[in-house]
Amino acid sequence: MSQVNEETTVVSSVATLISIPSTSENPTSVPSPMVSSTTQVNDDKLVVPIGMCDFMTEGSMGFGNRSPNKPESVVVIGKSDGDLPIIAEHWGQTSGPQVLVVGQIHGDECAPAFVVNELRQRPPENYGLWLIPTLNPEGHFLGRRTNGSGVDLNRDGLARSAPETKALMAFTRLVAPDLTVYLHSPLNWIGYFNGSLAKDVGSQLVKALGMDVLYTSGVNPPESAFLWQGQNAVMPGQQSILIEMPSISTKEASAAPNRSPESFSTVEKVAVFASIVRDTLDEAMKELE
Ligand SMILES: [Zn+2]
Repeated sequence: MSQVNEETTVVSSVATLISIPSTSENPTSVPSPMVSSTTQVNDDKLVVPIGMCDFMTEGSMGFGNRSPNKPESVVVIGKSDGDLPIIAEHWGQTSGPQVLVVGQIHGDECAPAFVVNELRQRPPENYGLWLIPTLNPEGHFLGRRTNGSGVDLNRDGLARSAPETKALMAFTRLVAPDLTVYLHSPLNWIGYFNGSLAKDVGSQLVKALGMDVLYTSGVNPPESAFLWQGQNAVMPGQQSILIEMPSISTKEASAAPNRSPESFSTVEKVAVFASIVRDTLDEAMKELE
């Protein structure tokens, strides 16, 4: 990916394929009291761009909706520098506990698509789900970790130099989730940040997945702060879980540091992992009703 000009050209042409209705064509209707300043866009043409995760290996998938189900609403929470929309879908209960799932942060991480798919195939019954399939549509399209301008979004939590980070922080403030779940790959571990709910849900995930340890997610210095640090700044006490999934292929996130043999997996095993994550979230949130 060294030919920047070519990348830029392709991105702008993809952007033209993705229709974002203007507010005048689709007057903002706000069925849910939880959304008041994003643009409501129930439109089948609004899709997540195709990226490397769609064809990385046999059986792989990207972040588009492959299920027969439709979310009750789709909102555009922001746009990338290359003008690709960042969407959030709402599934499940509109009142009661709300969970925000950020499917993809790094554009070359593909296993998270399997959890996104599970959540759409079997939407939650006892909690509300805000699902951002990919926070980094341009990185996903380009097949690289950073956004289109080279920013690592998960080091931009407090600096907020990227439009994607700004969008996530504004959205956090708007919908005030009880819990945020960040999906990454390929390191195969689980961590939590802030509070007893995150710790409880994290512990249940660790147990269900047959892991040994629940980690604490930790903090970075302000100039390279993680996204949960940014959320904590805009919504003090915001609790989150980080799920580092194993990879669907050795080609996934090929430059990831600290890889262990357990971080290399297969499409079949990652699909099982994703289904356990979905079921465990459902069980854990039941206790909050
Ligand atoms: Zn990552």
